[in-house]
Amino acid sequence: MTTPHYPDTRLLIANAWVDAADGRTLDVVNPATGQVIGRVAHAGKADLDRALAAAQQGFEAWRATSAHERAATMRRAAALLRERAGDIARLLTLEQGKPLAEARAETLAATGIIEWFADEGLRVYGRIVPSRNPAAQQLVLKEPVGPVAAFTPWNFPINQVVRKLGAALATGCSFLCKAAEETPASPAALLQAFVDAGVPPGTVGLVYGDPAEISGYLIPHPVIRKVTFTGSTAVGKQLAALAGAHMKRVTMELGGHAPVIVAEDADVELAVSAAGKAKFRNAGQVCISPTRFLVHSSLVGEFTKAFVRQTQSLKVGAGLDEGTTLGPLANPRRLAAMAQVVDDARRRGGEILTGGHRVGEVGNFFAPTLISGLTTQSDLFNNEPFGPVAGILPFDRLEEAIAEANRLSYGLAAYAFTRSFKNVRLLSDGVEAGMLWINQPATPSAELPFGGIKDSGYGTEGGPEALEAYLNTKAVSVVGV
Ligand code: NAD
Repeated sequence: MTTPHYPDTRLLIANAWVDAADGRTLDVVNPATGQVIGRVAHAGKADLDRALAAAQQGFEAWRATSAHERAATMRRAAALLRERAGDIARLLTLEQGKPLAEARAETLAATGIIEWFADEGLRVYGRIVPSRNPAAQQLVLKEPVGPVAAFTPWNFPINQVVRKLGAALATGCSFLCKAAEETPASPAALLQAFVDAGVPPGTVGLVYGDPAEISGYLIPHPVIRKVTFTGSTAVGKQLAALAGAHMKRVTMELGGHAPVIVAEDADVELAVSAAGKAKFRNAGQVCISPTRFLVHSSLVGEFTKAFVRQTQSLKVGAGLDEGTTLGPLANPRRLAAMAQVVDDARRRGGEILTGGHRVGEVGNFFAPTLISGLTTQSDLFNNEPFGPVAGILPFDRLEEAIAEANRLSYGLAAYAFTRSFKNVRLLSDGVEAGMLWINQPATPSAELPFGGIKDSGYGTEGGPEALEAYLNTKAVSVVGV
């Protein structure tokens, strides 16, 4: 059954929306109802070849556009997105499940990200280096790397695209994206804003289909000069290896298992309201979601009571329903993963403090779940849950908590709560993570680096470093004759 409010999504090639050459499509399902709500075109090799040719053409036109004109076009796209945010947020909620307010916030946040990158593109400076030969002038030039292949997931269908898109366009690259087949319409609406803002044909492109087939074709292709991926560590390693074999520049934003260290001198109320609320944003399907709550043993009773109370106040429901604060999981794979984590915890004698079960028979709803009494051998303390489940583990010495935070191969986000400067120093020096938030929830912004270390990937999607990842550096030494 197709609802009238959700459009089918086609492929974006050279500023035109087209069906796949062989007419293939995939179904799109509303995770709150399990119903098919629309279709998305499934690209084959012929479509990818057309998209690649367009990306090459788009690159030549876009890099020849002045940085000021590029910034103006990006700003027009941001303004269009802002105007359309209400409609786009509905699409996002229908296909992904998150509460409408979160979908709207994601769409509006994208406008700020585009505007920041537009401005930062004006500050891509080269330099002049004093020469050992007085007759020579030495220049360092920054040039766009070329057409970019981006692979983005379903948890933030707009935000995950826009961080890559912003950096690519600001530096003069063209951008060919394979967004997630499960959530195709909101990225399409995002790219439509750029088409309407006047980007030259091929500057942006969007394809869907079989993820492995598309990445296997685009990454080695000579037109593609840069690869950027957000998703699981397992897939990221495969794509990074493929990119390495073809010597392509890479940014990888992968999984995480964020520790939250609540030190002996922490403000418990703040820790619960900041990290506790953040835990259940987007039903926990967030790479920087707080997951391992490491709480000083003197505070663990008070912390747990308050965290359970706050968690039980969440309202589980469809994202479009008034008052919903926790939507369905985005796909049935996540439901199965949550059941597995909870079963493992039960088998190991963990205490399910709240939740621990599916809600209803229709849609992918899972109760927000807190578990204590586990050891670090448990599934929950080793594998990224990527859902509304968190574990609480007491500690006695801060050094122990830092060691536990660093035990896993992940190194994306971490959180800490403390009132002492000494602890802040210990934490900021000792925690192995790309991002550490102290006494606050995560506040990622376009101007701040966003990325991980260890198995969480490399490269960053914020700050001036994000643009650097889309630039080549060329040395030119000139002797006048
Ligand atoms: P998955 O590993 O199959 O897919 C993750 C993403 O990668 C999806 O968007 C998928 O379309 C894409 N993908 C998969 N294989 C690909 C390939 N060969 N080439 C290109 N893209 C490919 O897992 P999933 O079930 O969709 O998601 C579950 C796991 O993925 C989570 O446990 C989490 O670790 C990770 N994930 C992370 C993020 C993030 O923000 N870092 C976002 C979504 C999913």
